[in-house]
Amino acid sequence: MEIGVDRLLCEANAVCVGLAPDVFDLDDEEELVIAPGPVPAGQVERVSDAVKACPKNALFITG
Ligand code: SF4
Repeated sequence: MEIGVDRLLCEANAVCVGLAPDVFDLDDEEELVIAPGPVPAGQVERVSDAVKACPKNALFITG
């Protein structure tokens, strides 16, 4: 599983960061940062929850 974000939709409200902080973060400019590469197996459930919970539907699964 890999994750992408539509930056035009993301409003940096950190909902995903709260659900999967090992994969999502906000940088100093309030831009969402996603850990590079495939989502580790142990994080897949948390990341799936974050994709569903994003209030802007900005996250998508790329593979
Ligand atoms: S939950 Fe959605 S809108 Fe909020 S920071 Fe994450 S991707 Fe952006």
